[in-house]
Order: sequence, then C-alpha cells, then structure tokens
Amino acid sequence: MSTNPAWSEEEARLRAAICRIGELSYQRNYIVGADGNFSARMQDGTVLITPTGAMKGFLEPHQLAKVDMQGQPVDGGPRASSEVGIHLVAYKHRPDVRAVCHAHPPHAVALTIAGIDMQMPIIPEIITTIGGIPTAPFGTPGTPELAASIEHLVRCADVMMMTNHGSVTLGTNILDAYKKLDMLEHTAKILWLAHVAKGGLEPLPEESVRKMLATRKLLGITTRNTLENHCGR
Ligand SMILES: [Zn+2]
Repeated sequence: MSTNPAWSEEEARLRAAICRIGELSYQRNYIVGADGNFSARMQDGTVLITPTGAMKGFLEPHQLAKVDMQGQPVDGGPRASSEVGIHLVAYKHRPDVRAVCHAHPPHAVALTIAGIDMQMPIIPEIITTIGGIPTAPFGTPGTPELAASIEHLVRCADVMMMTNHGSVTLGTNILDAYKKLDMLEHTAKILWLAHVAKGGLEPLPEESVRKMLATRKLLGITTRNTLENHCGR
C-alpha cells in the first residue's frame, strides 16, 4: 500500500480506511463505474475525499484529494469529487460527524424513483436506531443545488436519500458511515421485496412503534432518530 512520510499517523490511517470502504462499496454494488464519493474529516478540520472521475473501488491512498471546509485544495494532490458539497454541508452542520459516504445503492434509489416511503416504521432494527430514512427533493448533480437539497436533513438525520440519485450516510468514523449505508440498502431491499410480494407496504401499529422507541432509553441507544425528531416531516 502506498504511503507518504509527510502524512501523520491519522492521515495515513484515514486514507487507507477511505480506500478500503470504496473497495467494499464497489464489491457490494453500492457504486459502479466512477460513482460515489467517500470522505473523512481530520482533527485539524481538513477533509480527505475521493477524487473526481476515479473508480472508488480501486483507489490507492495517495490518490485522495485533501480540501479545506470551502472545498479548496490544500495540497497539490488530485482534484476533489464534484460532489464535495454534499460532504461539506454535513461537516458544517454536524461537529459530531467525522466521515461521509455518498453512494448509489440500487434498491434504495429505486424506492425513491417509485415514490415508496422509507420513513414508514416497518423494520424493528431501523425503528430503534435511525428511525426512518428521509428523502430530499431532487437537486441537480454538479451544482450547489445538490448540497442545498440535503441541508435541512443533515441537521437531524444520519441516513438520507437524494431522490432519483443516491444515499448520504454520516458517521463518527468512515466505518460507522459505511455501516449505515449497509443498513440502508439492506432495508431498501427488504421493503422492495415486500412491496412486490404484497402490492404495497403497511407500517407497524403505532403502539408497537411506541414500545420499540421506549427500548432506546433502556438499551442506551443515542443515535439520531427521525421518528423521535420528526426529521424530514
Ligand atoms: Zn452521486
């Protein structure tokens, strides 16, 4: 694996982790071709992010871009992803967020195209952790419209969809952000299969949802929950 003596221990570790998550996302079909982008914020506030145009499943640590919070390059390295704005808007509003994954997971994107609500409380694991998955209105990729479209959601959700386009998941580290991408696509797959088999989806009864939300306190689950904070509603 490529390394550079100028990198701190933190930078070397985060660069390797971003490459690993890009590889995993590619293997899991959450991205194809040059789709998606992955980033991590360092202690000094600069952001390491996958470069524009590259296949994120085959990156080496030295191929990542390094930008400030305005998206400007801070070294002579590769150019940042054109979707860097999605990452910066999350870091700007959420001091607790240290990593962002943007991918195009097929089942989740298909549900937004079909207009199927991923906020509906159906899967216990989702209800007790992130609550639901809100969807942002359409924003034109490659323009500031895209980052603006999720600005109201990044404040109150860790997992969200950009309609007809892709997912944005936020984490305290890159593995945490990837875990939420994994959960999102798995959930979307189940909802899709159920929707096709049944011809529609129904939420769990309110009483069951209330009881599950009450277990959060007992189990010490402190994740942002969109059923509790009505994010995207
Ligand atoms: Zn995208």
